Amino acid sequence: MNSLKLIGILDKIGDKIIEQKDFLTELDRPIGDNDHGINMAKGFQAVKEKLPGLADKDLGTIFKTTGMTLVSTVGGSSGPLYGTLFMKMGMALKDQTELDFPKFLEAFQLGIEGVGQRGHSTVEEKTMLDALVPSVDAMKAAWAENPDPKAALAAGAKAAEAGVEHTKELIATKGRASYVGERGIGHQDPGATSYLFMIQVAAECY
Ligand code: ADP
Ligand code: MG
Repeated sequence: MNSLKLIGILDKIGDKIIEQKDFLTELDRPIGDNDHGINMAKGFQAVKEKLPGLADKDLGTIFKTTGMTLVSTVGGSSGPLYGTLFMKMGMALKDQTELDFPKFLEAFQLGIEGVGQRGHSTVEEKTMLDALVPSVDAMKAAWAENPDPKAALAAGAKAAEAGVEHTKELIATKGRASYVGERGIGHQDPGATSYLFMIQVAAECY
């Protein structure tokens, strides 16, 4: 995994988020304010525009620029939160030009911790963390068993899918979805669903 390959994957992630804009927005209607897909699509459109200019940059700079772009273009809480994930990963991968998968997993772990700190949130609160945390845990376990990046990413996607399913059973205690309380049961979390799309694309394109 070098810079060009990472740029290609982030670009495809952007396409997927933009393609799923209406679906992600619709998920935010019953438990939020009907804007998640709009927010994420706007952010990733801006990321897609920045990517071609990053071809000669290291992996850390590419992740960091992605994060900073999300923070500065997305109005909703998903902007600073996904922005933090990518920025923290960028800091952890500073000056790397070839991605070493265990280093990526470490960077991802730090990114997720950054999301929890920024959102004052943890698992079982019906947020993106309910997809992110089981996903990274599954990737670590898969890698320990068989050090194959594609297989690990596929395991991460599978765990994220289960994590998104699980958010249907949860009562939100953070973010706008906490305002609807028990009425949110049965509805999947939009932010967690965005991550599911991201990891699915990464697993397909790696
Ligand atoms: P907003 O809630 O400001 O309208 P979005 O609709 O774009 O922003 O994003 C909502 C998503 O953000 C939720 O589905 C959830 O996954 C995530 N989220 C909200 N608050 C938090 C938090 N404190 N910690 C982690 N994730 C959160
Ligand atoms: Mg919203």
